[in-house]
Amino acid sequence: MHLSAIAVGFFLSGAVPGYAGTATMHVKLDRETFPPKSLITLQNLADRVAATIDRLIPGRVTKSNQPEFLCYIAPDFWRGAAYDPPPITLIGAARLGEPKAARAGTVRIALDSLVLPNHAELVYELAHELAHVKMDPRYDNYLVETLAVAASLEALTVMGFEQARKMTLTITRNNCLKVFKLL
Ligand SMILES: [Zn+2]
Repeated sequence: MHLSAIAVGFFLSGAVPGYAGTATMHVKLDRETFPPKSLITLQNLADRVAATIDRLIPGRVTKSNQPEFLCYIAPDFWRGAAYDPPPITLIGAARLGEPKAARAGTVRIALDSLVLPNHAELVYELAHELAHVKMDPRYDNYLVETLAVAASLEALTVMGFEQARKMTLTITRNNCLKVFKLL
């Protein structure tokens, strides 16, 4: 789910709230798919998301000796794919359209390009995927998914995106009501 309803241009200025310091997870933003002019700002934001998820879900990443996880912008043709559209965490074989730095068999995080102009979207998508990484990216089910959504919503609050969190809850609730034909 995306926060597309949030006005594009939700830019941060100054220091980013949230947890700083050493995280057990390190995210490396891909230099090929993230624009060079915003790479430092977005890497700083990603570091804080990683530290926040580390606090919310303590412990080391299961079964992983990877020093860092590559995070890239998924190609546009992945959008709306029937299976596994972005945001998604990949662990297996290389997928058509991945950037050069992506290595098969490693944990890779693919985000939607909506994260580029919208920092709240980046926090939400990356927090969600890092929650999956922390809980073991080899497995997924409704309980894991629920916890990952909860962690990403909490990350929005902790990092100062309370308005985006409220909007996400409204969108989520309306989507659920539509699924059950109550709206
Ligand atoms: Zn998920």
